[in-house]
Amino acid sequence: MQSSAAAVLFVLLVFFTGKMSTFNLKERSSRELPSNGTHRKLVAFDFDHTVVDDNTDIVVRDLVKSKITDEVTKLYKKSGWILYMQEIFYLLHKDGFTKSQIKDAIEAIPEVAGLKTLFKELNDTGNVDIIVISDSNSVFIKFWCDHNDVGKYIKHIYTNQAHFNDDDVLLLQPFHHQTECCLSSENLCKGKVLEDFVRNQQDGCNVIYDRIFYIGDGVNDICPVLRLGDQDFGFARNGYRMQKEMDTKNPLLDAKFEIWNNGFDLKQLIFQNI
Ligand SMILES: [Mg+2]
Repeated sequence: MQSSAAAVLFVLLVFFTGKMSTFNLKERSSRELPSNGTHRKLVAFDFDHTVVDDNTDIVVRDLVKSKITDEVTKLYKKSGWILYMQEIFYLLHKDGFTKSQIKDAIEAIPEVAGLKTLFKELNDTGNVDIIVISDSNSVFIKFWCDHNDVGKYIKHIYTNQAHFNDDDVLLLQPFHHQTECCLSSENLCKGKVLEDFVRNQQDGCNVIYDRIFYIGDGVNDICPVLRLGDQDFGFARNGYRMQKEMDTKNPLLDAKFEIWNNGFDLKQLIFQNI
């Protein structure tokens, strides 16, 4: 009895593992839509230099008055951005910066021209979901989105979790740990996040995204675009590293690829394809 139960469990595991491993963004639309299912569009945004016209981590790092030692600087190369930024947040505390001052610095970052309006206009269509996938952190993104009243348009924000402790020290946690994707940092593979989101929407909510738009500027924004299908669009900000890497390495893409400068370009490119 026990061995037959184990055999059934094994078959189920193989079935579900196989089902999961066969999911990919390129073939998602070939899945049959359940009777209670819905077709929608998805627009996924990076945050730094895509929604806001600066890098939130750099803006805050530039507040530090203490010397940033070589040991701290080396952390970035050795262990990645998360440990480095955690040390920067300790230094900010040491320099006497409060939560309120850090909040002010983030709120003062301007939008990339036209992005706030674009969020609203995409939301107004009624058939578009917006998500943000960012290697910044949950505190900075919430500060900015609340201040600019755009959080209501965003279905989900995927980023490194952060919180202020009772002493106003900002504490940071990696989103996840990954070693498969060399385009992304160890703490966040944006392609995996996008794929997991789309699969969960299909399997859990019967929502099929028949077109995905991915918008970014950095090298880690290339991974999600490589995973998209021929009905989708990848957008690289003009003059930034994503566009330069794509120009020099010219990777094979199924998705249509466009260069963007601001929210007005994006509006035109997206709205003629939804
Ligand atoms: Mg960026």
